[in-house]
Formats: sequence, structure tokens, C-alpha cells
Amino acid sequence: MSVTVRVPAKVNVQLAVGAARPDGFHDLANVFLAVGLYDEVTVTPSPGGLRVTCEGPDAAQVPLDRTNLAARAVETLAARYGRTPDVHVHIVKDIPVAGGMAGGSADGAGALLACDALWGTGATREELLEICAELGSDVPFSLVGGVALGTGRGERLTVLEAGGTFHWVFAMAGRGLSTPAVFREFDRLAEGRDIPEPVASRDLLDALAEGDAEALAATVSNDLQPAALSLFPELADTLAAGRAAGALTGLVSGSGPTTAFLTRDAGTAEKVAQALGASGTCRSVRVASGPVVGAMVL
Ligand code: ATP
Repeated sequence: MSVTVRVPAKVNVQLAVGAARPDGFHDLANVFLAVGLYDEVTVTPSPGGLRVTCEGPDAAQVPLDRTNLAARAVETLAARYGRTPDVHVHIVKDIPVAGGMAGGSADGAGALLACDALWGTGATREELLEICAELGSDVPFSLVGGVALGTGRGERLTVLEAGGTFHWVFAMAGRGLSTPAVFREFDRLAEGRDIPEPVASRDLLDALAEGDAEALAATVSNDLQPAALSLFPELADTLAAGRAAGALTGLVSGSGPTTAFLTRDAGTAEKVAQALGASGTCRSVRVASGPVVGAMVL
């Protein structure tokens, strides 16, 4: 018997970053939106013990050892419910790796939900969310999906309303960016400056609630973008190409280097995707809309 879970990627429509805390982490006000670009995680009992396999265009970059977030999720759930983590986890990966779209977090949430169903642990939603928060700041959102505000390190979630569907184009870059390296660059650029407390923008939350793409485009922001651009200056060309092609706005997704373009409607998204694909400023292009639901057993 196997269980398969489908988990969406995310884009941050707002990523407000506070000053580095004494523990090195940053307080965030992180508005996540789940988009229809998915990984599928299948777990099957494996008498030989825990193993991870992966297929997809970026599969070679995915670690298959115990550092894989899906493996860590299985081990954490097993330890908590007195099981042996003897499953084969197979990931069909469509979310770009190290792209700022929470691909690893998606697999963590997916493996957790799949094993929970396979083993019938009886864990409550709150218990699963607690394990997600232990695994990483973006993992709880991968479970929940939709639109949500993450505070603390991003893991304390408040579900938000969205009044419509937003149409996005994502441009994948030729190489990845490490999230810790981007935060270190943020700290370097922030030296000697006063960093305000991160708060969610009222105008942005209103735009989401109204499903108003133009108002959302006017309010999206990402405090990590200057750091990502500093480490990866060519992203400025991708952003310029997407805007010139008719996107309402473009921004770096999370810690990057994927860039996200918000468009007026599905037709414009297709046109922007074509133009970006032909621009020579990115490796590949995908169209996806959201919000969509979070991790779901198929
Ligand atoms: P985020 O948006 O949450 O910052 P990301 O999308 O930028 O994350 P991931 O795709 O999650 O980045 O990968 C970051 C690193 O995590 C990878 O380079 C890889 O070494 C490691 N990793 C661990 N588990 C996975 C997984 N299941 N899939 C992809 N990468 C994983």
C-alpha cells in the first residue's frame, strides 16, 4: 500500500525582514501565497528501512540522504509515534530546487502527511503543524496552503482571505541561491542602518482580500530582494524583461533566485511567459495561478 500527497510551491507577496536577533534568526512578516506548481510525494512501506528517491528536471540537485527534509519529516513523525521509519519516499519534483519557492519544505510537509495517513497515527492538525514548525519555517505553510501571514521566523501562521485567483509567471534561474547566504548578505547590507519591525502591509492584505491584481502589484515587496540582486545581479535583467513583456510587476520570490511576475489575467501570463522564455535572461519559465490548497492526499 502507498500514499501519495501533492504539495504546492509558494510565492511570498510580502517578505518583511527585521534585524538579526541574538540567536541569528530574523523576525519576519511573511505573506505566503500557494501556487499551482506541485511536487508529489509517495510513501511505501520498505522493509529495508528509510530511503529517498527523486525524479524530475532538478532531481540531481536533491539530496537523497537523511538531510532531505522529507526524510527528516518521516523520522520526526516516527520518533513521536513510536514507529520505525521504514518507508520508501519517492518525490516527483516539479518545484525548482533552491529557487525560493519552498520546494524542500513542500516535500517535508508532503512526507509528513503521507506517513501520517499510511500509519494512521491519529495526530491532530495542531500536532502535525507543530512538527512542521520543527522541520523549518516554511513547512507549516506548505501543509496549510492558500494565503497566510507567517510571523516569528515565519512559522506562526494566520490564515488570510483571498478574494480571487492571481495569475503568475515564474522565471527559473540558471543556478540556485542559498537561503542562509542571502540572509547573511541582508545583514551585511543592513549594517549601520535602522531596521524597522517587520509588519504586514494593510494595503497588501486588502488587495488580497479583494482579489485585485493591480492593487496587489502596487503593494508586493521583498526585503531580501536587494540581497538576492547583490549576489545575483543578472536577476535585474530578468525582472526588466518580465515587466517589459507586460507583467504588472516582478519581484524575487523569497530568497530567490526564481523571479515571480504578477499579471492581469491568464492570457497575459501566457504572453509574458513566452516573451521571458525568448529573452535569454532565464533558464526556464512556468505559468501558475493561486491561491491553491496546501498538501493533499491524492
Ligand atoms: P525556501 O523557499 O524555503 O527558502 P528554496 O525553495 O529556496 O527554499 P529548496 O528547494 O527547499 O530551496 O532547497 C534548499 C536546499 O535544501 C537544497 O539545495 C537542498 O540541499 C536541500 N534540500 C533538502 N531537502 C530537499 C528536498 N526535498 N528538495 C529539495 N531540496 C532539498
